[in-house]
Amino acid sequence: MPGGSVISFSCVDSSLSSLKNCQSYINTGMDIATNVALDLVESCNDEEEVNSMERVMLEYAAMDRELKHYMQAVQDTVHQIKRDKPEDIPDLKDVVKQKFTALESKNKDSDLQKNEKYMHFMEQLKRMRKQFGLQSDADANEAIEQIDEDIAVTQSQMNFICPITQMEMENPVRNKVCGHTYEKAAILKIIQHREHQKKKASCPKIGCTNLDVKKTDLVQDEVLKRAIDSQNKQSRTML
Ligand SMILES: [Zn+2]
Repeated sequence: MPGGSVISFSCVDSSLSSLKNCQSYINTGMDIATNVALDLVESCNDEEEVNSMERVMLEYAAMDRELKHYMQAVQDTVHQIKRDKPEDIPDLKDVVKQKFTALESKNKDSDLQKNEKYMHFMEQLKRMRKQFGLQSDADANEAIEQIDEDIAVTQSQMNFICPITQMEMENPVRNKVCGHTYEKAAILKIIQHREHQKKKASCPKIGCTNLDVKKTDLVQDEVLKRAIDSQNKQSRTML
């Protein structure tokens, strides 16, 4: 064919999108495992069961890494073919496999520990245990070192009122940077509004010096949500 052969990448694109689906299943699985672990702490604090959830999380993190490497290998291969336009199309499967193996050869255990969802899992678990007064020795030692931070965390944990809406939060998110919590919809609205004005959103908590609240700084605060829900449940049963 003149001007080099034309390759259709549509089958690659469709397989990439089904891989992305797999990734969303992994994410959902990790969210479920996190909730199960928090349930376990709340109901019986069976250390062994909670640890098994941590292992599940690490397995998910490993799957996530493998999938990401595979998708990257496929994308790199496509880019390479598009760029080099080789006369003879190499066996794409082989090229992908080589690239994938190269990426996997750099795997480290610490990669898994740095997985964002795994980190979130560990952090929520720690806060949940703290709330129930169930600190492990390691957490307790760390707590002594960071006593100021702990007081701040405990105080914000006890505060169920959103600094924006002045109402009890239903879907609290916590700012990873300054530790303050807000109602999700309310803070997102502020960020969006400020973005529109091409300005940064500052933390609405009075006295906070964080002048740049980003969407990516916000994490779901499952522990606080549970505390609010259980308080509401209690006050309902008392009526
Ligand atoms: Zn703040």
